[in-house]
Amino acid sequence: MMMMRRCLTALLLSASTFLCSFTAHAEPTVSIVFMGDVMLAEHPGLRIRQGHNPFAPFAQILDSADVRVANLECVIARGGKAEDKPYTFRAHPRVLKLLKRHVDAVSVANNHSGDFGRAAFAEMLGRLDQAKLPFFGGGRDLSQAHTPLLIERKGLRIALLGYDEFFPRSFEAGNQHPGVAWSEDEQVVLDIRRARAVHHADIVIPFMHWGEEHQPRANDRQRELARLMIDAGADAVVGTHPHVVQDIELYQGKPIVYSLGNFIFDGFDDADNNTAWVLQLNVARTGVRDAHIQVGRIDKHGTPHPTGQRMPIDLKAAAPPQ
Ligand SMILES: [Zn+2]
Repeated sequence: MMMMRRCLTALLLSASTFLCSFTAHAEPTVSIVFMGDVMLAEHPGLRIRQGHNPFAPFAQILDSADVRVANLECVIARGGKAEDKPYTFRAHPRVLKLLKRHVDAVSVANNHSGDFGRAAFAEMLGRLDQAKLPFFGGGRDLSQAHTPLLIERKGLRIALLGYDEFFPRSFEAGNQHPGVAWSEDEQVVLDIRRARAVHHADIVIPFMHWGEEHQPRANDRQRELARLMIDAGADAVVGTHPHVVQDIELYQGKPIVYSLGNFIFDGFDDADNNTAWVLQLNVARTGVRDAHIQVGRIDKHGTPHPTGQRMPIDLKAAAPPQ
């Protein structure tokens, strides 16, 4: 009897081990962190020149993820001439070393990557290629700008698409010239569908540059486009640009984090402009399994520091959080 019980226990144990390993094999989970606006010119650029690392306080959180994604809110180049606009940001190529150390992919779809003209933008793409730091949301022509970046981890294929919809539109790529991807609705829907059908992505995430600056809530345009993207097959929608964090919405059970706020950025006095969200999405083949935000506070040098506050996003919530 004793023998039989032992055998049964052993059998059950091995069965559960088998089930566990089977489940783990069937459902690999990949963690992706998203940072908001990373601006490496101005004061952060000066600090890097002096030997500081603005990513350092968040390094442990960032480096624990499988994939680290940031919005690169400047051009990295030596050449070019400042466009006629209120703020223009050009970072020295020396920043690439730190960027490469802490970030796995950058979106160039924003209203500053074209600040020093098309030649400087193209120079940046060349430097990113040389540094083996993949980019998305922009390219050497319109077609590359709308091609997703595919990142494969643990057998999962993750497609990242980036779009700018904040002026100037002259930064947009054309058939014959480099630039950013602009978010025309029909094109965005097509890109998301192609990410699955042509590029065989398991997970598709658009990283948006949109919304109104300094507004704590997303506007109607952001909400309509986010829902359209999820209806087209996006697993989550993440955004930046307003310089503040915005509300979070669930649509069809999928998270929309409208704005992560600034990440590395100086020159703001208000507390809300100096709040940084780092979003972590844990994704499996079936979509986003869980999500949470690590809150940061940006100091006067433009460097974000974790506050220790961790905000889970309830993916089963019936109503969107207000
Ligand atoms: Zn912006």
